[in-house]
Amino acid sequence: MIYSKFSKDELNIFYQAKFEYYRKVSAYCAITIAILEILYFVTDCQLYGRFSYETVIPRLSILLPLGIFLVLAPKIKTYKSGIALYYLIPHAAMWSTIWSIYHLENKDFAREGFIVMHFAFLAIGMAMPLIYHIPIHTCVILNIIISNKFNHYEHFDMMITLAIPLILGVSVMLFIMENTYADAYINKRKLETNSVSDSLTGIYNRFILNEITSPISDKFKIKGSSIHVLMLDIDHFKNVNDSYGHEAGDEVLKFVSLQIKSQLYKKDYVIRWGGEEFVTILVDYSDEEALKLAQKLNNDIKTLENGICNITISIGIYKCTKSDTYHTAIEKADHALYYAKEHGRDRVVNYKDI
Ligand code: GH3
Ligand code: MG
Ligand code: MG
Repeated sequence: MIYSKFSKDELNIFYQAKFEYYRKVSAYCAITIAILEILYFVTDCQLYGRFSYETVIPRLSILLPLGIFLVLAPKIKTYKSGIALYYLIPHAAMWSTIWSIYHLENKDFAREGFIVMHFAFLAIGMAMPLIYHIPIHTCVILNIIISNKFNHYEHFDMMITLAIPLILGVSVMLFIMENTYADAYINKRKLETNSVSDSLTGIYNRFILNEITSPISDKFKIKGSSIHVLMLDIDHFKNVNDSYGHEAGDEVLKFVSLQIKSQLYKKDYVIRWGGEEFVTILVDYSDEEALKLAQKLNNDIKTLENGICNITISIGIYKCTKSDTYHTAIEKADHALYYAKEHGRDRVVNYKDI
């Protein structure tokens, strides 16, 4: 069950992904249903044995919701804003049928038309959350009950007893599809996360840069007024490995990663750049705030207990300009870091002060 697999926020992201994945299928199906509705006019002519002028307007009335759908559907971004529009078509097609049947002698022809509508609900339900689908699809019964008031179907009971298993059947199929999609979605997310995260520390690896920089200009494409790049390196880390062993060294790397990560906001990035080097990208910090954060990291990592040994770090800071690519920004932060190393380590150096 998806409700046990996802939190409320994750569920929202999952439904959005599902909508984006299936929206085209659903849209094509909605358009097909509208065209079918118009083609039923040929059947009307066969029934009358002449041009069925009585049902021309009812059948063509579907063109209005279809037009609205064609104009608005490409503008829809989220599944929540798409619900009313996508379900409009099968319901409108149903009412177009009801209106046409009103003019026909044999009202029971509505039965076949209504059965076809359930397939439209199935296709549209693929892009929508099942919890929304069930009540909206169930309104088909309401449509039949209301239209019976003036269409007086000969087999009204049978129409209802046909609709109930169809609604149930479609809902069960959508339930199975939703859960199947959830499994595929979780695996996809795992692969996406693993490809940009460092297996030892769990923070990002270098590949995250492919996502936050433009492949054409190599510039950061992060939304924000300013970007500061911090280059951090553990001082004399080789000694930690030599004295306490590689595994202890790994623990120190995890400790440092956690310290950096815990001090950042969601919009910032911490990347394991190499062995014991970290790149931190701060979004929307003033120069003072960036420097203060760097000094706090420098101090905390030095003073907090990491379970292995005392360590210090050196940090280089660089504030990006508009012309910087990520290569030049990291190069300059690295230059400031090199300066810190050259001038005694365990310090923060701002590129602009060199
Ligand atoms: P400096 O202050 O100049 O930065 O000296 P340093 O000893 O920290 O730098 P150096 O580049 O000489 O050594 C880095 C060490 O980091 C060497 C390498 O064995 C170690 N290292 C790199 N990746 C890992 C890792 O994943 N785990 C562990 N335990 N050690 C690593
Ligand atoms: Mg080092
Ligand atoms: Mg290094």
